[in-house]
Amino acid sequence: MNPVAIVGGGITGLSAAFRLRERNIPVTLYEAGPRVGGPIRTLCENGFMAEFGPNTILETSPKIAALITDLGLDPRRRDSDPAADKNYIVRNGKMVPLPVSPFAFATTRLFSPAAKGRILMEPFIRKPPGSEDESLADFVLRRLGREFLDYAINPFVSGIYAGDPAKLSVRYAFPKLHAVAARYGSLFVGQFLGARERKKRKEVTSQRAKKVSFDDGLQVLTETLQARLGGAVELNTSVIAARKDHVGWTVTVRDSHGETQRKHSAVLLCAPAHSLAGIQIEGEQMASLAPLREIEYPAVARIVLGFRREDVADPLGGFGFLVPEAERLSILGTTFSSSIFANRAPSGHVTLTSFIGGCRNPELATREPDELFERTLQDLQRVLGVRGKAVYQHHALFPSAIAQYNVGYGRFMELMAETEARCPGLFFAGSYRNGISLGNSIVAGQDAASRVAGHLFPAAASCRETLEDAA
Ligand SMILES: Cc1cc2nc3c(=O)[nH]c(=O)nc-3n(C[C@H](O)[C@H](O)[C@H](O)COP(=O)(O)OP(=O)(O)OC[C@H]3O[C@@H](n4cnc5c(N)ncnc54)[C@H](O)[C@@H]3O)c2cc1C
Repeated sequence: MNPVAIVGGGITGLSAAFRLRERNIPVTLYEAGPRVGGPIRTLCENGFMAEFGPNTILETSPKIAALITDLGLDPRRRDSDPAADKNYIVRNGKMVPLPVSPFAFATTRLFSPAAKGRILMEPFIRKPPGSEDESLADFVLRRLGREFLDYAINPFVSGIYAGDPAKLSVRYAFPKLHAVAARYGSLFVGQFLGARERKKRKEVTSQRAKKVSFDDGLQVLTETLQARLGGAVELNTSVIAARKDHVGWTVTVRDSHGETQRKHSAVLLCAPAHSLAGIQIEGEQMASLAPLREIEYPAVARIVLGFRREDVADPLGGFGFLVPEAERLSILGTTFSSSIFANRAPSGHVTLTSFIGGCRNPELATREPDELFERTLQDLQRVLGVRGKAVYQHHALFPSAIAQYNVGYGRFMELMAETEARCPGLFFAGSYRNGISLGNSIVAGQDAASRVAGHLFPAAASCRETLEDAA
């Protein structure tokens, strides 16, 4: 049998498998569904390109570009239009650019003069004792005030996590923000001083990171990974149990032929936390993964609408807009897909991708597609001056979309770390542990490959690390 079992064929599992195979370590990647990629899926219809889930990869780490290059995908890589660096927030039903310079901040209509004064007090706010794991809302209220929470953080969090700032943990959902506040005592000061350290680590902030996709959409990445892995990928095959004995791991899988047992030396768990909770881990001193079921994954619906260019009054110059909860629209936000990348709509048309639900209103996400098309159209009429009907529409529902790193997430992190320590050869990696963005998952998969290789061949791994450090 192949030494490594990878559970889950999302971008984390695929990246890990690719890097392990590169080291001549054979793997078997078990994917429960009929296709790899998780929410990454691209549909091209009538000249419109609809991304089911993610639209872009934020290139925050050099490991992302390295994977793209090593897969030979540089010629197919597409960086976003520079105009797409502009983001908007809806206030009083109108789009207002998110200020990104001191001058823009001074003149923006997004915040009242009183709110701007309150924001500028940030460097003087001291951290109260006992605020180690506080919610993002409490943190921002304390440091930056109510208006910043309502008109910057609330929409921003909906755009990234489809989450609720009152529940998300600063420490676990925004670890860099937490570290900056802890280290420098101020976000403004830390933003300024932290730039040097980021440069040293060759990292860029998400505001400055390139937004990346491919000529035929994000699915190009997962399709290419799958093609490179060939027969190592077993589709429609769920892992239901993993038992440790003195030799290694026996993994029980279920496919259309029934249940079978496979032997492996290491198991890398890259399925979502709610799926991992259902996998029975057996062996001495094993802890149940059932508590992972308590991690919140709200439902999100994604609506793509295509319009004739002349039917949209707004010039769509930017990445898109986010909607604060206080604005009471149905959608969480909209990306201007055909402004970000060139070939997302037929000539003379535009493609707009909107999201509904999340923690703000998970029930709304599950309503009938026709209702969601209509609600999205109404919101776009209001914000973008859309006239007439869409000439293209597509709906996708993610009943359990994105892991919420809520206050108290530390106990899940501890459970994973303790389980890894107690069960040599068992590893956790993915958006439920290493951060929810595609970039995080791509890096997590590659890092997990190094950890697994280190477990199987400790001497070779340490030699490779020394060579990589020297390079
Ligand atoms: C609507 C939406 C929009 C998003 N937009 C963006 C964006 O624009 N940019 C961005 O950076 N991120 C975005 N994200 C987040 C990003 O897509 C995910 O964080 C990332 O794809 C997670 O990858 P993963 O490999 O960790 O997990 P997943 O992609 O969830 O993969 C896990 C895989 O495990 C499989 N599996 C489950 N149980 C088992 C089992 N028992 N045995 C075998 N296989 C199993 C599943 O079928 C799945 O294929 C978005 C997410 C959603 C839902």
